[in-house]
Amino acid sequence: MNLKDQNLYYIGGVVRDEILGLPSFDVDLTFNGNAIEFAKNLPNAEILQINEPFGTVRIKLNGKEIDIASTRSESYPQKGHLPIVDKIGCSLKEDVLRRDFTINAMAKSTLTGEIIDYTGGLNDIETKTLRVLHDNSFIDDPTRILRMLKFAVRFGFAPDEHTQKLQDEYLANINYDMSYQRLKKELAETFNLNKYEAFERFVNQGIYKLISPLKFELPKYDFSGLIERYITPLSQKEQGHERNVWIIYVGLLPDISNLPLTKEEKQIVDEFRKLEKLCPPPEGGPKSLISRWGNDFEIYKTFKNIPPESVIMYSTINPEVVEKYFNELKDIEILINGNDLKNLGIEPSPKYQQCFDYILKEKISNPNLSKNDEIRLAKEFFNL
Ligand code: ATP
Ligand code: MG
Repeated sequence: MNLKDQNLYYIGGVVRDEILGLPSFDVDLTFNGNAIEFAKNLPNAEILQINEPFGTVRIKLNGKEIDIASTRSESYPQKGHLPIVDKIGCSLKEDVLRRDFTINAMAKSTLTGEIIDYTGGLNDIETKTLRVLHDNSFIDDPTRILRMLKFAVRFGFAPDEHTQKLQDEYLANINYDMSYQRLKKELAETFNLNKYEAFERFVNQGIYKLISPLKFELPKYDFSGLIERYITPLSQKEQGHERNVWIIYVGLLPDISNLPLTKEEKQIVDEFRKLEKLCPPPEGGPKSLISRWGNDFEIYKTFKNIPPESVIMYSTINPEVVEKYFNELKDIEILINGNDLKNLGIEPSPKYQQCFDYILKEKISNPNLSKNDEIRLAKEFFNL
């Protein structure tokens, strides 16, 4: 970025990441004053978009799109909802004080590179500490509790004692009238990292109660490895379709009706719930869970037709069956199709499907069957 001005600052996450020596996903810039006026007076800059109430502007400069915010102060008349802007063009210090944690509250001059640290963020980075800026922070905006979990797991930082106490106090007295769209965004960012450790803290510290007060216990089976092996590669294969890992975790909670879900997310959870009803854990604990499932064909048929995310969720109830499905059964496919049956002179009918299932059953106990073997089995099925 070659835009330099004595009133223009990098701010927030980008400054933190640079100090940590990490790459930043987005670059936040704040103008100490009114950014819209500043942008209008910039030679060679094309104004792309203005958001007057928030004092933000998007410009194009030397072929690059840049967002610039004005310094602004905010307040939370409705706790848990979006803040309102009190003043645009306030001092840099006031702008910084509306932020979440000290490590996210530093500014860096674009002109001199000087770091402005009003709240002790540098020291907290040094000591790996997450610290809120005031005692009402979580009451104003409880999504910060999830942001804290996200940063704790991402950076290996920990809240200071007072911040931890404020979190615990809030969780003992949650105001459920909050913006669940924002909470969902933070849940997704936290659990898409696929760290079981984040889930452990989320459950053991009672952070999950932000979504619903119904009691939930940590599943004993760590399914993050299954996600890594079977879901992450799908995201890479299906370009443009990023698989949502977060819903595998959060969907396990007994009630997530507060969260706005997409159709796909809802289907993942619904299929898991159906499985859970159909095949609950046996009373008295998991002895031989596999035997409850009859046979491998039944496992295959049940899991093949639902999203793999739902199957992984079911591993919290019956890990043996799920491991067996992924390790041994998932990739089994029969090689013949309707055309092959037609070529044998068989009229299309629902019997086709029965025939395919007949072959599939054989194939599951003997995956090495060739296409010729399958045709032989089809003939056998139709008594040819
Ligand atoms: P990430 O690396 O995940 O993007 P970030 O800290 O950059 O983390 P953003 O959501 O991009 O987070 O927000 C940019 C900055 O805005 C933060 O660094 C912080 O100063 C401020 N901010 C974001 N969310 C909140 C919030 N809920 N409350 C107060 N300040 C916030
Ligand atoms: Mg950011």
